[in-house]
Amino acid sequence: MASYLLSQDQLNPWLLRVKQNRRLVAPLPDADGVVDWREVEDPEQIALEPGVPDMPLKKLFTPLSEVLLRYGYRGDRAGVVPTPPVSEPFAVFGVRPCDAYALAIADTVYLSDVPDPYYQARRDAGTIIAVNCTSALPECFCACLNDVLLTAPGADVLLTQLNGDYLVEPLTDKGKALLVATVGQTSRLSESEETGETPVLTGWKEASEADLERKAEIAAQTAAAQTRKIDVEGLTEAVRAAYHDEEFWKAHTEACVGCGVCTFLCPTCTCFDVRDDAISGRGLRYRCWDTCQFADFSREASGHDPKSQQWMRQRNRLSHKFWYSVERGGPISCVGCGRCLRGCAGHTDIVATLEDLRKKPIGSRDG
Ligand code: SF4
Ligand code: SF4
Repeated sequence: MASYLLSQDQLNPWLLRVKQNRRLVAPLPDADGVVDWREVEDPEQIALEPGVPDMPLKKLFTPLSEVLLRYGYRGDRAGVVPTPPVSEPFAVFGVRPCDAYALAIADTVYLSDVPDPYYQARRDAGTIIAVNCTSALPECFCACLNDVLLTAPGADVLLTQLNGDYLVEPLTDKGKALLVATVGQTSRLSESEETGETPVLTGWKEASEADLERKAEIAAQTAAAQTRKIDVEGLTEAVRAAYHDEEFWKAHTEACVGCGVCTFLCPTCTCFDVRDDAISGRGLRYRCWDTCQFADFSREASGHDPKSQQWMRQRNRLSHKFWYSVERGGPISCVGCGRCLRGCAGHTDIVATLEDLRKKPIGSRDG
């Protein structure tokens, strides 16, 4: 399917059409001005700037906590009622490319081998409408990790603001279906079904090669505006080589208080715990976000804790993202959203830590 141009004044009418048959979620401010992912009543209220909301997109696909089953027991009788994995259709507008890419990384955790039915149901029901960045926050560093500003992996539709218009690119079949359902289509659609040609949408102007070139220029400008960068060449080997350098990790994590905010805000962190809450013969089993930064996260039943110190937990966080994920055949599992830099009370800085790690002579990295 082709790409299209949508004028500024067509955007909100289109979003109203999108929300006719599905919930529309986007970054919205509350009464105190705090922007979070909320259901849209009026597209005028959507707050795309200054960039990613504090809370990551993952909260829409893996809620902070969710009940998996309820049960009851009396004597030798027991009953279990599982919570069915269902989700109503919804679309998320205003997703930044880093957050869309983080969803693609989360897919490799939740949808590989044995798919998680709750996550699967929400992914199937959700359509991701990404909006490209034309500026960068001081902590953004997505461009050095992936070409997300051009490709937005994980998104179904990508919008890029070009002067007065939005370039609209359908990236997946789900994205194409959304456009066909909400924009309309020419009589060529029935013809195209017979001939196998892609349908042509009415009402929107088709984008030209020059529009796509302009998008690439804007992506390059946004990337250039990112002042924080990680050199990924050989980074996995460098992180692995630094594993036993206790002094390095201690020095770079001494301000960490183990609050877990960096991981809760991280769109690619996927750890959860499963707990039971039962009283008087009734109970429920739920799962909730968990973090490798909590003191009891790795403690074993024997009492032994392989990550008994906070610096070990921070080492685990960085090693997971830049070493273990890659060694398991996936990408680096950091998308450069900058949330952990903004949110840390101790001002720990993942970019600075990796820069210092790169500066260490190879021979001294293993302490
Ligand atoms: S690095 Fe910062 S945000 Fe993360 S656990 Fe430590 S203090 Fe909390
Ligand atoms: S590690 Fe930090 S910068 Fe990287 S994806 Fe997670 S929150 Fe964003």
